[in-house]
Amino acid sequence: MTQPAPSSPDSGDDCLVVGGGLIGMLTARELAREGWRVRILERGEAGAESSWAGGGILSPLYPWRAPEPVTRLAIWSQRHYRALAEQLHAESGIDPEWYDTGMLLLDSGEGNRARYWGRDHGVRVELPDAERVAELEPALGARPRDAVWMPEVANIRNPRLVRALRGSLAHLGVPLHEQTPVTGWLRSEGRIEGVETERGRFEAGCVILAGGAWSGDLLAGTGIGAEIRPVRGQMVVFRMSPGRVRRVLLRHDHYIIPRRDGHVLAGSTLEEAGFDKTTTEEAGRQLVRMATDLVPALGNAPVERHWAGLRPGSPEGVPLIGPHPELAGLYLNTGHYRNGVVMGPASARLLTDLLMGWPTRLEPTAYRPTAAGERKD
Ligand SMILES: Cc1cc2nc3c(=O)[nH]c(=O)nc-3n(C[C@H](O)[C@H](O)[C@H](O)COP(=O)(O)OP(=O)(O)OC[C@H]3O[C@@H](n4cnc5c(N)ncnc54)[C@H](O)[C@@H]3O)c2cc1C
Repeated sequence: MTQPAPSSPDSGDDCLVVGGGLIGMLTARELAREGWRVRILERGEAGAESSWAGGGILSPLYPWRAPEPVTRLAIWSQRHYRALAEQLHAESGIDPEWYDTGMLLLDSGEGNRARYWGRDHGVRVELPDAERVAELEPALGARPRDAVWMPEVANIRNPRLVRALRGSLAHLGVPLHEQTPVTGWLRSEGRIEGVETERGRFEAGCVILAGGAWSGDLLAGTGIGAEIRPVRGQMVVFRMSPGRVRRVLLRHDHYIIPRRDGHVLAGSTLEEAGFDKTTTEEAGRQLVRMATDLVPALGNAPVERHWAGLRPGSPEGVPLIGPHPELAGLYLNTGHYRNGVVMGPASARLLTDLLMGWPTRLEPTAYRPTAAGERKD
């Protein structure tokens, strides 16, 4: 792995990060903490796309269904999230509100599979009876046929998380250029030496692409078929008093997420709609119906907002993390699909380890970007 020359007072940046979402900001933060000079280039406002729009559940939805590479990143991050939230709070003055609600999965019919998965991965998974379910979540409407309880799953208030990250980056002295769309690569003899933007050129020892759903467009013409595509997700949020809903609840692929201040999110849709972020009345109605079926008291709660975001979809939801297979100096950290909030810290750590040339804390092979048409090993 080639490592950029260490910073000296008059040298350029060690690395540019393209995209100021959660993934780009977490990666820049890790590198800055290792002493690298890093700069983020963001097309619009940092943290305003998928990372703002997401739900912030710190787990894949049915973890036993997730591919192993997703599980590995999720579990690593879960073990570090609480401390990360505390550090970000201290550095920025903004509390990202890590909230240990647990996750109660209803009517999956997969209790045994869940239990074995939990045993094999060292994650607590319980199969509560009806009485225990009612105790865990008194706000539930109909009794579920079966339930899986994962007490260690937390959620985080992702809009606050991205604001806290911005504060942390300012604290670390990482420049963040907003309203600066990257339009092309600066190439020299098979090497990427920087980027073209609408505000001029930036050069650096390396470039990290963390452009979320837009990464595929940026990769077009670099010789790899990243297969990153936007997948729209719509959500609504209700206003309730704190503590009325206690747990992350999941049934038939839809979920409810309580925040500490009483807000309750309900999501989400999975739609192939290109880069269109408009919301639809039909999806709004469906989400409200699903939520009130699960928790009848939500029927009396006002819906405060309805929005849509674009997940960076990738084959099987496994992100691409590592060096571009053909262009030296270009690195990827993208394609986190439905699990970018939970996988983010581990992805940032893995790419940082790779860039530092250290033994990696996570096995990198499954995430390695490959040349067009090749399968990952
Ligand atoms: C409805 C919904 C619910 C979700 N729920 C969860 C959940 O509960 N748990 C979970 O773990 N994950 C969840 N996710 C997924 C998670 O939000 C994403 O995987 C994650 O936010 C991706 O982060 P990112 O930084 O890659 O992308 P983004 O946040 O989209 O950031 C990419 C950034 O790159 C910038 N960019 C793009 N092109 C350029 C360019 N040319 N030049 C400069 N900048 C550029 C964009 O403006 C953007 O700011 C959810 C997503 C949605 C939409």
